[in-house]
Amino acid sequence: MKPYLKTTPNADGFFGDYGGAMLPPPLVPHFAEIVEAYAKISKSADYINELRYIRKHFQGRPTPISYLKNLSERAGGAQIYAKREDLNHTGAHKLNHCMAEGLLAKYMGKTKLIAETGAGQHGVALATAAAYFGMECEIHMGEVDMAKEAPNVTRMKLLGATVVPVTEGAKTLKEAVDSAFGAYVAQADTALFGIGSVVGPHPFPMMVRDFQKIVGIEAREQFLDMTGELPDIVAACVGGGSNAMGIFSGFFEDEDVELVGVEPLGTSSKLGDHAATLTYGQDGAIHGFNTKVLLDDAGEPAPVNTLASGLDYPGVGPEHAHLQKIGKVQYTTADDKEALEAFYGLSRHEGIIPALESAHALAYAMREAKNHPGKSILINLSGRGDKDLDYVTETYGFGE
Ligand SMILES: *Cc1c(COP(=O)(O)O)cnc(C)c1O
Repeated sequence: MKPYLKTTPNADGFFGDYGGAMLPPPLVPHFAEIVEAYAKISKSADYINELRYIRKHFQGRPTPISYLKNLSERAGGAQIYAKREDLNHTGAHKLNHCMAEGLLAKYMGKTKLIAETGAGQHGVALATAAAYFGMECEIHMGEVDMAKEAPNVTRMKLLGATVVPVTEGAKTLKEAVDSAFGAYVAQADTALFGIGSVVGPHPFPMMVRDFQKIVGIEAREQFLDMTGELPDIVAACVGGGSNAMGIFSGFFEDEDVELVGVEPLGTSSKLGDHAATLTYGQDGAIHGFNTKVLLDDAGEPAPVNTLASGLDYPGVGPEHAHLQKIGKVQYTTADDKEALEAFYGLSRHEGIIPALESAHALAYAMREAKNHPGKSILINLSGRGDKDLDYVTETYGFGE
């Protein structure tokens, strides 16, 4: 049988029932151009070699795996390990796909990167890529988010990006997506849209997965090298799902490795209190592709809530919906309280301050460890917590 990654998605960008590309007519030829360019470039030795050079000499890859000895002892049961994407340049896994998107834009002859950003993490990563490649960068961001995430606005500007304030509607992520897409339609001859996760119309869910695959490839090799065997469980938080697809991709052919996606349960399982799309959502469409979606009574994307703003999305990457359906990955949740405990625990007992997003994966490991004595759990520590320090300490204090 052909390996999973070689057969999924199909040529139209479907992961089973999910995915595809529902595009406004003016974008159809531009997406066809991206599909064709990626198919060619991603197999060229020039592109692959340049991407390898960037990962090693600019991003600081490979990132290590750390054994969380103290937390493993406290949890009691399984031994817990973390893949340290927090040590990637700019402090999270997002740069893995942003640098590759920038490189793709360069090979396509584009001179500009356009995107939206919510909390600003994706905007900063894409602005970093644009600076590296000497490209223009235009980031659309809701005015409300700009006020909340001022340091990221400052970072983007320092990196040379133009930050476009979005003043429509609720002035947050959804309006920023519409605004950025509108700007892209007008500039698609010279610009590439840089999507921030394994979401959006084909080929982005596939490309971003491929760009993040390096996390899983490294992790598999490093874990074997470190322990002589593979982990029993590999877990990652799921917002759009890119860091999870990255680490899972290294283990799809290992039948004995259990893969677990952890969604944010926010404050409760009531619609509006969480962002656990795979756990509580239904089949639907959002932003140009089919997937599972959290919908309100009117059939519109529902409000979502979690203290980790990077996980705050009422949809999810189509491949996760597929992997859930075929049973290849199990999905569970961790709530705000569990994530906060994990945030404090990793800081206090291991000397690593994690992003609140990543703390969800750790919360799962801490909770499950006692049910798996003699086993190992590898989590993807998708990012560092610098961005969350003020919010956490001002709202919740310093922990016990
Ligand atoms: C953006 C972000 C996430 C969520 O995105 P995915 O596409 O689900 O990986 C997770 N962790 C960190 C640190 C982030 O910045």
